[in-house]
Amino acid sequence: MIFKADLHIHSVLSPCGDLEMSPSAIIAEAKSKGLNIIGISDHNSTRNALVASKIGQKNDVFVLCGAEVTTKEEVHCLCFMPDENTLLEFQNFLDSKYIFFQNDPDKFGYQLVVDEDENIVDQIDTLLINAIDCGIEDLQKKVYELNGIFIPAHVDKPRFSLSSQLVFIPENLKFDALELSKYAEKNNFLQNFSWFSLNRFITSSDAHYIPDIGTVYTELEMETPSFENIRSALKNIKPR
Ligand SMILES: [Zn+2]
Ligand SMILES: [Zn+2]
Repeated sequence: MIFKADLHIHSVLSPCGDLEMSPSAIIAEAKSKGLNIIGISDHNSTRNALVASKIGQKNDVFVLCGAEVTTKEEVHCLCFMPDENTLLEFQNFLDSKYIFFQNDPDKFGYQLVVDEDENIVDQIDTLLINAIDCGIEDLQKKVYELNGIFIPAHVDKPRFSLSSQLVFIPENLKFDALELSKYAEKNNFLQNFSWFSLNRFITSSDAHYIPDIGTVYTELEMETPSFENIRSALKNIKPR
C-alpha cells in the first residue's frame, strides 16, 4: 500500500513554530489532509514528539519521533528514533551538546512543551535553533548507534543545508535519504547540483504553521506503517 508521509513538521517547541502548532492540532490537520505518517522534528529537541505520537495512535496517524538537529557546521538533519528509550537517550545526548544561549521569547518565539490537552508543562530556556556542539558525522554515528533514521534536511536550501554549508556530501556520511524542500523543483536544484541526484529523496513541508502541513509529502510503499517499515520504504525510493 502507498502511504502519504510528511516527515518534517515543527511544533510549539520550535521558537519559529506557530503557537497554534500543538501536537493535537498538528495531528488533526495531518488527518484532515489525508497524511498517514508524519515526523515531529523540532529544532534540537524531541520533547513534544512522544505526546504527538500518543495522539497520533488514537487518530490513525503514525508519528516518527525525533528532532531537526543543527550541527556544528550549521547543517540541519532530521533524526528519528525507533522507540521511547532511544528517544530519551537521544534527548540526553542533545542535552549534553547544547551550547547555552538564553532564549528571548519576544525575539525568537516561545519554546513550549505541552501535554495531550495542550497544557504547557515546560518551557525550554536555551535557544533551540543554534548549532549544537557536534559535527554532522558524529551526529549521524550517534543516530545509527541508537538504530535511528538519519536524513539531511532540505539539501537544496541556500541556508542550513548540505549544499550551502559543505557543498558536497561527506564521503563517509551515511543516511537513509536526503530531503528536498518544496522549492527544489523551482530552483532546479538537481540540475544545478547534479552529484546529489544519485541519491534517494523525500520531500517534506517543513511546516511551521498549520496550513503548511502536508502541502508536499512523500509516498512510501509498505504493508503497514511502523518504524522499521518506514526505514525499508525509504531504501526503496527510486532515485530521480
Ligand atoms: Zn531546517
Ligand atoms: Zn525545519
